[in-house]
Amino acid sequence: MVQINRPDLRPETRAFLDRRAQGQGLLIDGQWSEAAETLPTVDPATNGTIGLIADASASDVDDAVQAARRALPVWRRMTPAQRAGILWKIADLMEARIDDLAELETLDQGKPLFVGRWAEIPGAIGQFRFFAGQSMMIEGNMIDSSINYQPEGKQVRSWTVREPVGVVAAIVPWNSPLVLTAMKLAPALAAGCTIVLKPAEDTTLSALLLGEIMMEAGLPAGVLNIVTGAGATAGAALASHPGVAKIAFTGSTATGRAIMDAAKTDFKRMTLELGGKSPAIVMPDADLELAIPGVANAIFFNAGQVCIAGSRLYVHRSIHDQVVEGVVRYGQGLAMGHGLDPVTQMGPLVSSRHADRVARFVDGARKDGASILSGGELLGNAGTFMAPTVVTDVRPDMEIVQEEVFGPVVVAQPFDDVEDVIAAANDSQYGLAASVWTESLSTAHRMSSAIEAGTVWINCHAMYDASLPIGGVKRSGWGRDSGKQALDSYLEWKTVCAVL
Ligand code: NAD
Repeated sequence: MVQINRPDLRPETRAFLDRRAQGQGLLIDGQWSEAAETLPTVDPATNGTIGLIADASASDVDDAVQAARRALPVWRRMTPAQRAGILWKIADLMEARIDDLAELETLDQGKPLFVGRWAEIPGAIGQFRFFAGQSMMIEGNMIDSSINYQPEGKQVRSWTVREPVGVVAAIVPWNSPLVLTAMKLAPALAAGCTIVLKPAEDTTLSALLLGEIMMEAGLPAGVLNIVTGAGATAGAALASHPGVAKIAFTGSTATGRAIMDAAKTDFKRMTLELGGKSPAIVMPDADLELAIPGVANAIFFNAGQVCIAGSRLYVHRSIHDQVVEGVVRYGQGLAMGHGLDPVTQMGPLVSSRHADRVARFVDGARKDGASILSGGELLGNAGTFMAPTVVTDVRPDMEIVQEEVFGPVVVAQPFDDVEDVIAAANDSQYGLAASVWTESLSTAHRMSSAIEAGTVWINCHAMYDASLPIGGVKRSGWGRDSGKQALDSYLEWKTVCAVL
């Protein structure tokens, strides 16, 4: 029995933990099994152990890839409507288990319950529904070619068809585990691919419950396989496996480079959703009642552990102090605590290792001469809570301005005119997202076109939906999750040219 000192935990969640959080977390060819080695998984709010996850070996990974290869013809032979039916059923079953999924996500990742329950898990469910529809809309073209060396009395007919790329290695991070997993699984399955999923070692549990749900929804054995465990071993073995046709990766830019190396021998297809340092820009004509909580939430939501977090705040000098004071006040008003406590608005960072990393960035900023207006210290017995932190008096070349912190730390800088702020926003190795806060339609258009980013939000930040492609330019990665563009990335084109 897993021992967790939370009397408020639902009996369904406890039953799941007893079933799966004792090392039995490998799903291979429709069967759950154990690995020879295990890793502890921890509640980041207390540092208490929740249970054990399987630490898959290279041989476990090989078994999973072989199972996925065997399942490819089975999944492809099903009609698009049959596949869509299963995707839709997965969404229905997730909805029925939404409270269990949200509790697991909070326990394992630390996020406040409402974040999973009302934002991220509905987002994950939306992925399965959107791609259920998309799976029935895959089409090729007839092409009227100009080939003129055709045999007498014959005609050339040419067409293209779309085919699944093959086995997909889905490798995901720990910050928003379930929705990021769904962003890969749903389009891959819609395209007819089979999958080996490697969740992040810090946040594996919700993926295992999703695995149970997907099997219950009628997914044939081997179509989804799950190998849990360490990135350096299980992840690396999966990324370099010759049986994998595509790697769908979300994580850090550094690991993205390791994935590119692993992919190059076999020319594996890749989508890489990587890091960010996204600007939030408040223009002098912005509606500040909307903008102040908007830019504060852009960085403090999920304790800043969001790839698209608005971690660089640029405010027009005429309103700079007012906006920055508002963001400080907003942060100071957030109730911090265990994510399962209903009053909690901000939880811990995902692990003490990550909390130390975030604290090192703030210390570095102090040493570089920046001012820390609020926060900046680790709190709580577990040492994993970081108070909402606002940093000012920085230079553009400072580490705190250039590097992704991945915590509740925002760097505020004033600007004087629109050209300056566009140049400052683009002075980054990253290009994932940005937000612009303005009441002027022409400023909104001009800036959304000038900013180098995969997504630009106007008067909002981090609005996403299964229908909207998301991904980055520059070192924020390659390709897009969500939207039709995601489906496309799991499909190959085949050209057929026939003399008839
Ligand atoms: P990470 O790169 O450390 O790990 C991500 C995943 O890769 C984990 O499952 C890990 O086990 C695995 N991994 C690690 N080393 C590997 C290797 N050598 N080969 C194969 N797999 C390996 O990232 P993280 O710390 O878990 O997540 C935070 C990062 O993710 C941040 O940089 C954040 O910006 C990024 N992120 C990006 C997006 C996006 O859409 N662009 C979304 C969320 C998070």
